[in-house]
Amino acid sequence: MTKKMTGNEIRQTFIDFFVEHGHTAVPSMSLVPGGDATLLFTNSGMVQFKDVFLGTDKRPYKRAVDSQKCMRVAGKHNDLDDVGRDDTHHTFFEMLGNWSFGDYYKKEAIAWSWQLLTDVWGLPKDRLYATCFEDDEGNIPRDDEAADTWKEQPGFDPSHVLFFGRKENFWQMAETGPCGPCSEIHLDRGEEFDNLRDKPHRCGVNGECTRFLELWNNVFIQYNLFDDGHLEPLPAKHVDTGMGFERIVSVLQGVDSNYKTDLFIGSLDVLRSLTGHTEEQMYADFTPYRVICDHARAAAFLIADGVVPGNAGRNYITRMIIRRAAFFGMKINLNEPFLAKVAEAVIEEYGSFYPELIKARGAILDNLTREELRFARTVEAGIARLQNLLDGLRDTDTSALDGITNMRILDGRRAFDLYATYGLPFEITRDIAREQGFDVDEAGFRTAMEEHRLASGGGKAMGKQGGEDAEFFAGILKNLQKNKKFGEHGVEYDPYTSPSVEGEVLALVVNGQAVESASFGDEVEVILPKTGFYIESGGQVDDIGYIKSLPSPNGRGAGGEGREAWEIEVTAMRRPSAGVIVHVGEVISGQPKVGDLAIAEVDMPRRHDIMRNHTATHLLHAALHQVLGEHARQAGSLVAPDRLRFDFNHPEAMTPEQIERVERIVNDAVAADMEVIPKLKAREDAIAEGAMALFGEKYGETVRTITITPPSNVATEEMETVVHPMAVMEKMSKYSYELCGGTHLERTSDIGAFIIVSEGSAAAGVRRIEAVTGRGAYDLIAHRFKLLKHTAATLKTSLEEVPFKVESLQDEVADLKKELAALRASQALSTFNQQLSNVQTVNDVNVLVMEVPGSDADTLRMLTDKFREKYPKNGVAVLASGSTVISAVTSDIVSRGIKAGDLITTIGGRGGGRPNMAQGNLPDPAMMNNAMNKVAKAVEEKLK
Ligand SMILES: [Zn+2]
Ligand SMILES: [Zn+2]
Repeated sequence: MTKKMTGNEIRQTFIDFFVEHGHTAVPSMSLVPGGDATLLFTNSGMVQFKDVFLGTDKRPYKRAVDSQKCMRVAGKHNDLDDVGRDDTHHTFFEMLGNWSFGDYYKKEAIAWSWQLLTDVWGLPKDRLYATCFEDDEGNIPRDDEAADTWKEQPGFDPSHVLFFGRKENFWQMAETGPCGPCSEIHLDRGEEFDNLRDKPHRCGVNGECTRFLELWNNVFIQYNLFDDGHLEPLPAKHVDTGMGFERIVSVLQGVDSNYKTDLFIGSLDVLRSLTGHTEEQMYADFTPYRVICDHARAAAFLIADGVVPGNAGRNYITRMIIRRAAFFGMKINLNEPFLAKVAEAVIEEYGSFYPELIKARGAILDNLTREELRFARTVEAGIARLQNLLDGLRDTDTSALDGITNMRILDGRRAFDLYATYGLPFEITRDIAREQGFDVDEAGFRTAMEEHRLASGGGKAMGKQGGEDAEFFAGILKNLQKNKKFGEHGVEYDPYTSPSVEGEVLALVVNGQAVESASFGDEVEVILPKTGFYIESGGQVDDIGYIKSLPSPNGRGAGGEGREAWEIEVTAMRRPSAGVIVHVGEVISGQPKVGDLAIAEVDMPRRHDIMRNHTATHLLHAALHQVLGEHARQAGSLVAPDRLRFDFNHPEAMTPEQIERVERIVNDAVAADMEVIPKLKAREDAIAEGAMALFGEKYGETVRTITITPPSNVATEEMETVVHPMAVMEKMSKYSYELCGGTHLERTSDIGAFIIVSEGSAAAGVRRIEAVTGRGAYDLIAHRFKLLKHTAATLKTSLEEVPFKVESLQDEVADLKKELAALRASQALSTFNQQLSNVQTVNDVNVLVMEVPGSDADTLRMLTDKFREKYPKNGVAVLASGSTVISAVTSDIVSRGIKAGDLITTIGGRGGGRPNMAQGNLPDPAMMNNAMNKVAKAVEEKLK
């Protein structure tokens, strides 16, 4: 090996090698296998081709090569407990494979394996071994074909062919069906990689130590296995190979752990930058690092394939591995969400080959952080409860001992309670239990989980179907009103003054059905008598937050005596029917029940960001009127925590000066510390006073108005309701006056800063501005400042000098380009002069057809002038460079019926121009290869 290849290069050389040998590069299938309900995740390269081998599916190719995303997290293929504790196990991994569907067979497959491993990747030939099949039961013929083929490979040591029996070297898809012998390639890594070198052991291929590594398995599918055990040859024979990607990368990069390959370097660097550990410290306690790297990578790929954290099936796995990674993070003092940062490194490493990661970046980062935050709220209580259980178990007599392992076993139902109440996944419970010498009853946990799933209506179709939903909720409302839980207006809505509200849980809905209680992980809809959560309207997004149990005054209820406290994370709001407001969320701990006392708290830091953006939206609207005119009316808006978006009517793009002015006016209004005054008014009055109302919005008889006004103008408020003719004056004294139901700051200075991020077209006649305020503005400024500092450092100059330095560099580049063009022209001319001797005479015409690499159209034209200087008569020239082609014909030839444009068409190009000079392009530069013949022929025919 000359230079160490990166992981990405190794994957690419594998694919390129087989593409060069006639294979079609096939993208990886999703981690969620389509159409195979028996399989939790795609777990081998075979999955996407299974039906081709069974003969029930056909592909347009007979040879394929791929790198398949695989996930092995449960069941016979993987004990998750190993992942992270050693250097080779993974939950997510990639499998490289080449495939023949009734096409090539052993000869080609073995020869190509050998070439790739030794010629392309440079592995030492004398260290490679091949295993072939010899039936230990004596029924199936020995695979001499493979063995003999191995011995023919150049440089292969014939004594390195070894025979093994059914366990190692015979493959079958299932109890019956396609099967066949396989041939594995093993590498002797040398004594230094032998973990048992100081002990007596079986050292060799398929031995006991880590010195010999299986690299690649070639499976030759040639039989069909029947019920009674007899084999019949298949009419078409197939090849199926698999090579663990992480392992081959570790071999080619010469490291003793998959986790020390460049595949994980980015992730490990991020982690070390967070923990502050040196490399030495990290390797001294490598397990948490390995677990986190593996799980973060797996979670990123799962979320990219749509498997978000949840409570059952695949979604449970995503939840579990995120929580397990977070749990191992706690062991190295990472107590704030950190997985999104690790996932960034994963996306960076894998995004070029798996673009789904880049597309799903937002979802990946968001889901990771949210799941970590949920976990953080309950993990301590959950671990404390588990510790209690384990302490209790330690003190019991030996009846809890497992007969085989002699370990005390924690009951599976108890383990499930820890999940149902604290969201502590089974796998973490087991991690903790095993560390203390206990084990956990996994079967009991699964049983309890399945029982719970059925009891809580899981598995039933979701019952939400448009209109039915509204009727369903109207029914709930009616019932509650009958029981005097509500007044006639239903849920009381006050997002303006009540960031937290106490009340009784009136209804819980899970899977479209009213339920009496819900459990951890349930997606639940909650109705309370009153709410302070804003429901999306007028462009302002929903509030999010938490609903938590409160012990009732008599000390009972959830969180009081006897019952665990519970908590629901509210992620959205909706109003399914008149009078009903629903908090949509997920139970993140405990078991909420109808009738429990609870407190609903809006996420106020986020809400505050939203209010900054909403008040700033009104200031922006007013500023646009000042700068562009009254026609610049609102045509749509979005008020989110991280940004605001404002659409308005204006026929053309704003100039940079206009944008700057608008931004300045808004910031002046911020600095002026104006008051923001909400007021309820009769609609007609408000509109007569000039409040800006939006087209297409429905307003009731009473409207809410938002006035923004300089402090000194507060006194004029008094005059407001008196007379309508004052309206014009009113409007002058108010900075901004709008009908609006949104939530606002009390003073504009609270906005902090306002920065326009972009101005562009939203639709015909509608412009769109995006802007940030407050924390978002600070982040943007900090980020841009950092970029500027970085640029200055790269340019080796001060911040102030950057623009001048860039200008002078641009001048320099322009000069160099000019110089280069001149150089190219003179080079082209000298090539051209040399080629002039190649002018062919066709009849009496001088024909020149040539390529002048690296020239532009101007140069080519200059050369045709030179040609015509030399041949003022009887001349035809076709010159090309890349896809550009120019043809010139002397005027006497034009009068003989040959036009310059026709010659371009003759050689397959497109273009046109004057009869004596034409320009065009060639769809394929290879068309110049036999252009001379074509042009000569055309000239001959025309002059006949
Ligand atoms: Zn050994
Ligand atoms: Zn508004």
